[in-house]
Formats: sequence, structure tokens, C-alpha cells
Amino acid sequence: MKAATGLLTVNLDALVENWESLRRRAPQANVAAVIKADAYGLGAVPVARALARAGCRQFFFATVPEALAVRHLLPDSSECFILGGVAPDDMSAVFEHRLTPILSSQSEFERWSEWTEAYGHCGAGCGLKFDSGMTRMGLEPDELLAIARQPERCERLGVKLVMSHLACADEAAHPQNAAQLEMFSRVRTQVASYLPGVKFSLANSCGIYLGDDYHADLVRPGAALYGFNPAPGAANPMRPVVTLRLPVLQVRCLHHSASIGYGAEATRPTGAVLAVVAGGYADGLHRILGAQGAAECAGQEVPVVGRISMDTTLFDLTDLPDAQTLAGGSMDYPVLTVLGGAFDVNRVSTRNRALGYEVLTGLRSGRYRREYIGGEG
Ligand SMILES: *Cc1c(COP(=O)(O)O)cnc(C)c1O
Repeated sequence: MKAATGLLTVNLDALVENWESLRRRAPQANVAAVIKADAYGLGAVPVARALARAGCRQFFFATVPEALAVRHLLPDSSECFILGGVAPDDMSAVFEHRLTPILSSQSEFERWSEWTEAYGHCGAGCGLKFDSGMTRMGLEPDELLAIARQPERCERLGVKLVMSHLACADEAAHPQNAAQLEMFSRVRTQVASYLPGVKFSLANSCGIYLGDDYHADLVRPGAALYGFNPAPGAANPMRPVVTLRLPVLQVRCLHHSASIGYGAEATRPTGAVLAVVAGGYADGLHRILGAQGAAECAGQEVPVVGRISMDTTLFDLTDLPDAQTLAGGSMDYPVLTVLGGAFDVNRVSTRNRALGYEVLTGLRSGRYRREYIGGEG
């Protein structure tokens, strides 16, 4: 690696295989792709393109601008759902680009109603989200049923999907899963009796692995596509997708014991070999390294030393067989792998799943060169 910035590699073939594998897992359902937050930091454009080529036709975004960044690449038959709903300023883009907002409150539904009347059509329709126990966004089941009891109005407003979201799907044994499924199924039966054409969706990545009951008509995986284990505790059925490698800028051998980095929080003795690596907290590394405290170098684990700086991080290479030669400057500097191999995203997320997601989405801010493998299918 001759450049002075890290290299983020996204394996689109592995991504597509993960999508195919989820399809085998939920054969009765359509398998969407959640590509919000720039496909969890990996790049929504290449990710969407690869999945569309593989046959994916349902995509979920958080916001309208996120969807607009990829809409033009997707086949016309694709559905682009906006999880965050729709604000008045987004409305014309929603109609023009055939986006499908997920409406989560009565006031949003009323606003949608006014706009569809103003436009004289319902564009690519809308979805409704109800709260089955997560208590984030969503209609109350009673509010949803009141809407469903007006089938002609729903038809006019293009209501095509009813969804809810699981709060504890990553803990398979959590009683909340069964409770949410029970409420979802009850509401589904009632809504379907008024709106027979509407599709239903409950499961995210982990929800798919809770069992067939959770699949409904459409599943919404994000994390599993990107290599996260959707069945925590069991072997990961997904292929790793992301690798992040950082170049060493400088290696030095300490001629006296010294304190290291800002705040002098660490010290190392005479003879220690330290590497200055390109990448710091401005590149999201505090999230990655803060959780694991090490990287892989020449097949060996090397620890972080001291505080992570904005642009650089120090690693202790003293235990590498070549440490002294490296410090002497007579061999090429190595590359450190901070994500990938033994340091795969699941290692971070086994301690804290949210942290695993943060690690990926944090890569967006990084000053990395990006490389995409495959996806040409
Ligand atoms: C982000 C999100 C998903 C995807 O969740 P993963 O755990 O990444 O599979 C699905 N549904 C909703 C409503 C979401 O916000």
C-alpha cells in the first residue's frame, strides 16, 4: 500500500451472497435491502446497484435525500421506502421520483391525504408503521385499525404496506419478541380483513432468524447484508463484506522510556517499537479501536498505545519478529487490518450490537480510499 490513507474494501459479491442466503432463509417473503445511512457507511450507490442486479426490488432508506441519491440507478419496478416518513418540503420529490413514505402518525397520514388530493394521484403509494412494542415511531394499533376501516380511502391513498419493528430481535430468547409477534399477527389479521391487497412486514436481520412466523410478506435486513451475524450466539451464516486496512507512516524504536501521545496516558520502555498509523478519530477509528484495542499486522495482534489522535493512531509492534528491522527502515512498512479477518465487525458487535452498527456507519466520515470487489453478476 503506497498511499498515506486507509483502504476500505467492500466485497459486493459477498454482499449479494448474503442477500441470496437471506432469501433462502425466508423463501415465502420478499427480501428487501435496508440501505439507509449510505448503506451503513459502505456506499449506497454500489450496494444498491449490485443488489438490484441480483434482483432485489425493495429498498429502505431513512430519508428522502438518501433515496434520491440512488433512485435513478434502480429499475422502474423498484420500490423505495422512506422509513422517516415525509415532511412537507419532501413532498414534491416523493411524487416526482416515485418514493413510498412510511407514515407513522395520524397527522402524517392526514398530510399525505391532502397532498395526494392536491396531486390528483398517490404516486408510488405509502406504507403505515404501527407500534407493536418498541415505542419509537408508529401509529397505535387502534389508530391503524381506524384507518384500515376506510378501504376506499386507503386505496385512493395508495396504502400498500403495513409494518412494525422488533425491539429485541438480537436476543432470541427475549419474551418481547413473542409478545410483539402476537400483537403483529393479531393486527395483521384485522387489517387484512379490510385491506386484502396490503403487504405486511415485521423482521429486520435478526428477526428473520427468529423463525418463519416472523417473515410475513416482506423482510427488511440491513446489518446481515453487510456481514453481521443475524443469529447472535450461533455460527455466523453471513460472509464478511468489509475490510479496512491502514498504512504505517512511520516506525520508531524508543531509545529511552517515554510517554506516548496526548495526555501522556501510556508509557513504553527503552527498545519498544511503535508504529504511527494513518487514521484517527476523525476517521471513526475511536469506535473501532476503542472496542477492540488492537489490529492485525503480519498475522499477529498488535495493541493500540495511548490515546487515538485526530489523524493518527499508535500501535505497539515490539512483539513482531521483524520489529527491529522495521524500525531500522530497511524494509517496507506493513499494513494493519483493523476490520476484516479476525477483527471482523462481529467481534465488535458481540460486546454491543449497537456499537457494531456504529463502527460501520462511522466509516462514512473516514478519509479512506474505497475499493469495491465484484458485484458485476
Ligand atoms: C434499520 C432498520 C432495519 C434494518 O435493521 P437491521 O438490524 O440492520 O437488519 C429494519 N427496519 C427498520 C424500521 C429499521 O429502522
